[in-house]
Amino acid sequence: MFHAQILTLFPEFFDSPLSCSIPKRAIAAGIVAVETIQIRDFATDKHHQVDDAPYGGGPGMLMKPEPVVASIRAARDKQPDTHVVMLTPSGSRFTQAKALELIEKPGVTLLCGRYEGFDERICDYVDEQISLGDYVLSGGEPAAICVLDALIRLLPGVLGSPESAVLDSFSEAGILDWPHYTRPEIFEGKRVPEVLLSGNHAAIESWRRVQAEERSKNRRQG
Ligand code: SAM
Repeated sequence: MFHAQILTLFPEFFDSPLSCSIPKRAIAAGIVAVETIQIRDFATDKHHQVDDAPYGGGPGMLMKPEPVVASIRAARDKQPDTHVVMLTPSGSRFTQAKALELIEKPGVTLLCGRYEGFDERICDYVDEQISLGDYVLSGGEPAAICVLDALIRLLPGVLGSPESAVLDSFSEAGILDWPHYTRPEIFEGKRVPEVLLSGNHAAIESWRRVQAEERSKNRRQG
């Protein structure tokens, strides 16, 4: 079983996305176990403070090192082989290749920030820093659920058809999925491409390949 732990100030954030569709089924089937850990539980002062003002001034507050590092240690105590990932806009960009790499680990621990981010010293206690992309979210939780969802659907036994994951966008580096069509054959005057109705599998395969390459070139290398 793949073990995912999430270090967060908002465990309730994960209730809905983990209780429907593919993640729900993967959890029910015992393929993945997901545990949230409340970082605030590791704050030792009477107000359970997890944030503080930045040295040197500037806006906002930072996640304090003591409770965050204590929560990382608790996660490692529970799952000694876990791979601890800090979610941060300054991390390496998350990709399908990274998702494939992470599912080979016995499990992951996803560390979610809030406020203006983490005290820099916390970086020394994680294995890796990952960003979802070059934009700023209000917290690590939306990034963590994206990473977790991408991992879950790659775990063996999760998708009804394992072929789906192999044919998805990015299974081949840099290549997007081709366009798909279902019934009706004509929708508001827009026809399904003739080749898809031809029954000629070689022609269909070659059309899909060309479409995927063109789309990848136009949308990713432009
Ligand atoms: N001051 C930080 C900066 O400019 O990089 C942004 C902090 S953001 C408001 C709060 C938290 O959201 C971060 O600590 C991180 O955990 C999460 N976060 C925001 N954008 C993210 C992204 N693109 N990828 C991963 N995590 C992100």
